[in-house]
Amino acid sequence: MPPEKLHWAHLYQEVVTSGLCTGCSACIVVCPYDVLEYDDQDGHYRPFHIAADGGAEDCTHGVRGCTLCTRACPRFRDWETEIDHYLFGRDRTDEEVSGIATQVVLARATDPEVLEVGQDGGFVSALLIWALEHDEIDAALVSDLEGDGTSWRAVPAVARTREEVLRTAGSRYTYCANPMAYAQATEGGAERLALVGMGCQTSATAVMSARKAGKVARRFSLSIGLLCSKTFDDAIFPELFEARYNLPREQIKKMNIKGVFQLWMRDGSYHEVPLKEAHAWTREGCKACPDFAAEHADISTGGIGAFNDWTLTLIRTERGREIFDAMVRDGAVELRPIDDDPGAVALLRRLSTASRKRWPSTAVPMPGRIPVRA
Ligand SMILES: Cc1cc2nc3c(=O)[nH]c(=O)nc-3n(C[C@H](O)[C@H](O)[C@H](O)COP(=O)(O)OP(=O)(O)OC[C@H]3O[C@@H](n4cnc5c(N)ncnc54)[C@H](O)[C@@H]3O)c2cc1C
Ligand code: SF4
Ligand code: SF4
Repeated sequence: MPPEKLHWAHLYQEVVTSGLCTGCSACIVVCPYDVLEYDDQDGHYRPFHIAADGGAEDCTHGVRGCTLCTRACPRFRDWETEIDHYLFGRDRTDEEVSGIATQVVLARATDPEVLEVGQDGGFVSALLIWALEHDEIDAALVSDLEGDGTSWRAVPAVARTREEVLRTAGSRYTYCANPMAYAQATEGGAERLALVGMGCQTSATAVMSARKAGKVARRFSLSIGLLCSKTFDDAIFPELFEARYNLPREQIKKMNIKGVFQLWMRDGSYHEVPLKEAHAWTREGCKACPDFAAEHADISTGGIGAFNDWTLTLIRTERGREIFDAMVRDGAVELRPIDDDPGAVALLRRLSTASRKRWPSTAVPMPGRIPVRA
């Protein structure tokens, strides 16, 4: 970051109103004066400045020297290169379109109860349970469903126990700003936090560390990324699933995306909705995102590939390596070599390349070769 004092006015102009903002909520979480709030109504997912003295576009604390929101934003200025250098100490090569990783492997929980509730191999839930039970973390910021779950509205949540991890396992395909659960976790006394989230969220905790965003940065001690090419507006439930397919949201039991939207209903029926029909409900904040593979998480996870009940797992950082190896030694997960599924690696590369093409040419240039538009 340059020595000039970069604050909300810069973030507002360069990220929030330029189309780069992902709605990750990191700026809100780090703001020490609580002058930022989150608008997640009607598909917005944006921070806004509430202080009357600074107005929407400026911040009086920023003018006096506070820079924390720009230090936490995973889309501000040269974020990718800064984080790559901080985490890995080098530039990525042109070949590393999915980010830098030391190992790609298939993993799944050995505990049948965890495997059962997990979206793919239950690896993420197994990791959280292992880290809580081995005193590596005090709490995890995850995603839950509002109320009894029938609204399918994803809400940030804190998991401190095995039961809470199991209750919040599985994937919701609408956006959930998990960092927003930070206050609830720390008010409950947690000091060492794990964050589960999309690439924009796991780049946020990484950029906070790279740019020394104070106490909040230091509390994030582990990040687990979810591979992601887009999330959808909540309006997809009434406007697509219910209006066109007669699948009311309260009747949906489980969802997955494997080339198509897969929907399992409470009455036992199964339905598929072509992904191209869902594109119209793509969330605005995803349209310029270049990161499919959660490139700055300690460990990134996804469900692509030939095997439904395994999690494609990328070990990226030393912290990720340390936790992963200890879990394997303890028998909390079982592994399968990625060579068993070469198609998954090819697809990872293809989807990562497609996402990188979304980064606007008007923004700070991305590291690595810019993929040629197909
Ligand atoms: C919106 C979304 C899009 C995805 N797109 C892809 C994709 O295109 N390709 C691919 O390979 N994988 C994708 N994934 C990842 C995949 O669905 C699994 O999350 C991943 O493989 C881990 O599986 P698991 O069984 O190990 O996780 P689990 O053990 O089931 O744990 C999943 C964790 O994710 C959290 N979570 C669930 N939904 C959300 C959400 N909306 N926001 C933040 N956290 C959430 C849960 O709280 C839980 O902690 C996506 C996930 C999400 C949430
Ligand atoms: S400049 Fe400081 S006080 Fe103002 S919005 Fe950013 S973090 Fe909050
Ligand atoms: S991308 Fe995240 S940190 Fe940056 S302005 Fe948007 S919500 Fe704030």
